[in-house]
Amino acid sequence: MSTAFPIQHLGANIEIYSAPPVRGLIQHAVFDFDGTLSLIRAGWQEIMLSLCVEALEKTPTAKDCATLTDICRDFILQLTGRQTIYQMMHLAEEVRKHGGTPCDPLDYKWQYLNLLQGKIAHRLEALEQGAEKNPYRIRGSIALLDELTRRGTTCYLASGTDEPFVIAEAKLLGVDHYFSERIYGARDDYQAFSKQMLLEQIRNDHGLHGAELAVFGDGYVEIESARSVDGIAIGIASLESGEQGWDEWKKERLRTAGAQIMVPDWQESALLLSFLFGETDV
Ligand SMILES: [Mg+2]
Repeated sequence: MSTAFPIQHLGANIEIYSAPPVRGLIQHAVFDFDGTLSLIRAGWQEIMLSLCVEALEKTPTAKDCATLTDICRDFILQLTGRQTIYQMMHLAEEVRKHGGTPCDPLDYKWQYLNLLQGKIAHRLEALEQGAEKNPYRIRGSIALLDELTRRGTTCYLASGTDEPFVIAEAKLLGVDHYFSERIYGARDDYQAFSKQMLLEQIRNDHGLHGAELAVFGDGYVEIESARSVDGIAIGIASLESGEQGWDEWKKERLRTAGAQIMVPDWQESALLLSFLFGETDV
């Protein structure tokens, strides 16, 4: 973990680990979806974890449940932000390591999606029937997107969830119009897309310097990718239960991944943007 600089605080809950050297130039902003803007898929980690532990329990050299849970939790979280198939590929590898014969990772993925569908069906249904959207959004999401749009920033949505689901769920949450056609997710041809590839493409297409590109996300992968293209990495250690406060585990991992700024939600988005645009100092 980077401890070279003391944490600086802004407002009630914005933590700054290393202020971007240049501020005020952001033109493009890339958002993760689940856990960053959306709570529709909240609880996916537990579903994936139980699927993975069950698969490993059936192997000849299975360890005790607690050990298997640790193994699975580790790789699931390490790969959070990448497309689901990578987690399932890792599961297949673990099954093999434990002397078992794995299913095709794509089969594991469909098993997982079916289980998850069972968990979130009532949320999708409620939203389709016009339920209040705010309980399914991370707090402050709309104000943040409104303000970025007002400032002329081009926003992109990039998710490890399959693209048709991301598009449908962004519509249900009423956030699709901020991104128009710039919504990206996992494809069947999984090598055709990654967050890293998208960031590089945006940078190259627009001839950007790092300070012109910001990434907002709750996953290890988008934060690491942001830093690798010299972009500004804003981590959100959100509690997916919808409660207020930090997810301490996410916070620690995102900081390790290189997040420069951390928030628990977007409630202080006005202050955050004012800092990012160089109008407010710590
Ligand atoms: Mg996420």
